[in-house]
Amino acid sequence: MVERQIEARGIRDPRVLAAMRDVPRHLFIPPPYDRSAYDDCPLPIGNGQTISQPYIVALMTELIHPSPHDNVLEIGAGSGYQAMILAMLSKKVTTVERIPAVADLARGNLAALHGDNVEIVIGDGTCGWQKNAPYDGIIITAATPRVPSPLIGQMAEGGRLVAPVGGREVQELIALEKRGGTVTQKLHGGVRFVPLIGEYGWGT
Ligand code: SAH
Repeated sequence: MVERQIEARGIRDPRVLAAMRDVPRHLFIPPPYDRSAYDDCPLPIGNGQTISQPYIVALMTELIHPSPHDNVLEIGAGSGYQAMILAMLSKKVTTVERIPAVADLARGNLAALHGDNVEIVIGDGTCGWQKNAPYDGIIITAATPRVPSPLIGQMAEGGRLVAPVGGREVQELIALEKRGGTVTQKLHGGVRFVPLIGEYGWGT
């Protein structure tokens, strides 16, 4: 998976590649789709939600370039897979999930792999998670019409944010960086995510 889908598409960060090799993706996907865990596609995880394609997980991780002392926030815990990759590369991960049953899935998966530096919280992630802010890296793993303004406020100086921004069907992956109070933006191509539902995302 790493060689054919991830390195072949240009992901170079050796720490990201190592984490993608080390985390057993099949343990995050409920049957029967666990058989396809290493395929080049997103997969259903229940409750109408999906685990992202492996390459997109690697790309988003590389774009926030987490380092061992970083405090990271994920919006949309889903299976817990992206949180586990981030947990291996940073100091602490907070992941916010809207659906309690999905948060339970993530909690079980992360506990099995001793992802002890991940805090899973239930709530509307479009408001971020002020309690553990500011964050060096923020990853939104659901599609949003715009970057929720509370999340910009929770970025640390020098912080990075990556999110799929656009319509309900297709979005552009955008990366923000905050320096000296100014936020700059770069675009990283088209993607498809399930919707981010909440106060600063899509309505239900
Ligand atoms: N990162 C996950 C995949 C996320 S799928 C993984 O690695 O498996 C998107 C998730 O975002 C879904 O679980 C969905 O319930 C959640 N979600 C949608 N809107 C949300 C919101 N406002 N706050 C928190 N989570 C939300």
